[in-house]
Amino acid sequence: MRKTKIVITMGPALAEAGRLRGALEIADAVRLNASHGDLGGRLEALTEIRRISGEIGRRVPVLLDLQGPKWRVGAMEAPQELPVGTIGVFHPDGEAPGTGPGGAAWAVPLPHPELFLGAKAGQRWILDDGNLEVEVTEVRPRLVAARVKVGGLLKPRKGVHPIGLDVAFDPLTPKDLVDIRWGVEHGVDLFAQSFVRRAEDVRSLEAVIKGLGGSQPIISKIEHPAALDNLHEILEASWGVMVARGDLGVELGVERVPNLQKHIIASARHALKPVITATQMLESMIESPQPTRAEASDVANAIWDGTDAVMLSAESAVGKFPVDAIQWLARIAADADAHFRPRLGRTEDALTQRLSSRTDVAVAFAACRTAQEIGASFIVVFTEGGGSARMVSRLAGDLPVVGVTMDLGNARRMGVMRGVQSLLLPKAQSADEAMATVEKALLKSFGALPGAKVVFTLGLPLYQEGTTNSLKVIEL
Ligand code: ATP
Ligand code: MG
Ligand code: MG
Repeated sequence: MRKTKIVITMGPALAEAGRLRGALEIADAVRLNASHGDLGGRLEALTEIRRISGEIGRRVPVLLDLQGPKWRVGAMEAPQELPVGTIGVFHPDGEAPGTGPGGAAWAVPLPHPELFLGAKAGQRWILDDGNLEVEVTEVRPRLVAARVKVGGLLKPRKGVHPIGLDVAFDPLTPKDLVDIRWGVEHGVDLFAQSFVRRAEDVRSLEAVIKGLGGSQPIISKIEHPAALDNLHEILEASWGVMVARGDLGVELGVERVPNLQKHIIASARHALKPVITATQMLESMIESPQPTRAEASDVANAIWDGTDAVMLSAESAVGKFPVDAIQWLARIAADADAHFRPRLGRTEDALTQRLSSRTDVAVAFAACRTAQEIGASFIVVFTEGGGSARMVSRLAGDLPVVGVTMDLGNARRMGVMRGVQSLLLPKAQSADEAMATVEKALLKSFGALPGAKVVFTLGLPLYQEGTTNSLKVIEL
């Protein structure tokens, strides 16, 4: 059975009749990218996701990915060809100044005044996560002229990344604030924060969410060079992280992505936090019904690095074969999982170094160790805040984990934890009653066999604020 979770990005490709249902039958989490589409479309998407996942009985978390301080070209009516060697212009609004004979070969709107102040002749600008590149030739008020170094088709809203441009920016833009309010009001399950540089950035987002009355946890996207220097403190401040390979490759060089991926995943595992690996996992499937061998290998290797989840971006959002891409991802992940032997020892080293003085960590670790030694079939984690399920998920190795909670959001968020299935359980009279109900559910719905050993972790007394402090082994 597949243990690695699948995150898909919502987009027009899934709007076609029947496709979203097909997608939600497999996907474990959905990402709404605040960089694309309008609020109306986003609400429609969220409503459909909730409705269909309810109908098919799946608890799928929705993650709202905030654009953050990223520059993008503006809306254009159609993609524009930027032929190599030609000179064109960027300008701040949608009005194209005199293109045509003798004029600029192309004109691209760029709604970011600060870029026109920071631009200098000779600067390299990377467009669309590295697919195109231009060199600035001239800077005038409200206009930047540039020569195309790497040409191609430039689509609306693609990223613009000036190399070496140093302008101060807030971690949360005015657009982010609108999107955060939207996410809190509509009850998304998680936020993803782009271009996190330090723990402080995560805490400011957390404060805004709290201020709006929300309690959504944060996944920090690791894509900025500063985030690598501050990875430890960012992991501590975040609920989880994403290896955001698109902008990571632009910022640090594509050749560094493989080793940075391993480093980020290992660090997340050591901090006992979930990690999602994202971008170009099945890129060729935007156009083709089959993945390449290289893509299949990339997905499997991310899993063998220890990622909790693999993610699709354009493949599911705007690709020609969104549902096929999800099916392929599931197939590749299932095979990689069948040959995955997560090493408990390395995490154990980390625990003894940094985290093992915490009771909940020690109990989680003892539960997994015990379960492995006695050959248990399941580890069951009572988890009201979700923290214990998150930790056990990292420590459980090949053993399936069932996270038991009363909280729907909490249950949904298990959709990004490797090997964890959720069980939503209403409040019971006693811990014994709760465990008896879980035992029945294991036999009825989770494929457990009579006689199987199960390890429980829980905080006693149940339903009191506090930490997981107990371990119990039973035979079904
Ligand atoms: P990020 O840096 O946050 O990953 P991105 O622009 O790379 O942003 P992705 O969500 O990774 O966006 O998707 C990749 C591409 O797929 C986008 O550049 C865009 O062209 C397209 N896309 C994704 N979602 C949508 C959408 N909802 N509507 C239209 N196009 C989309
Ligand atoms: Mg991307
Ligand atoms: Mg990004």
